[in-house]
Amino acid sequence: MTKPPRPLRCPICGKPRAPAQRFCSDRCATIDLGRWLSGDYAIPAEEEPESDEGVGGQA
Ligand SMILES: [Zn+2]
Repeated sequence: MTKPPRPLRCPICGKPRAPAQRFCSDRCATIDLGRWLSGDYAIPAEEEPESDEGVGGQA
């Protein structure tokens, strides 16, 4: 059984792209690179407010 190839889309603009390329054009590749450099893809560190300091737990 041969599965039909998944429609490859440019992650930047969503247009169909060539299977051998990650983006539809150099422009989108540049945009993606810019996002990487600007840290847009970095996982935002969610600071959990720990306000339980002081509560020892000594009974
Ligand atoms: Zn694109």
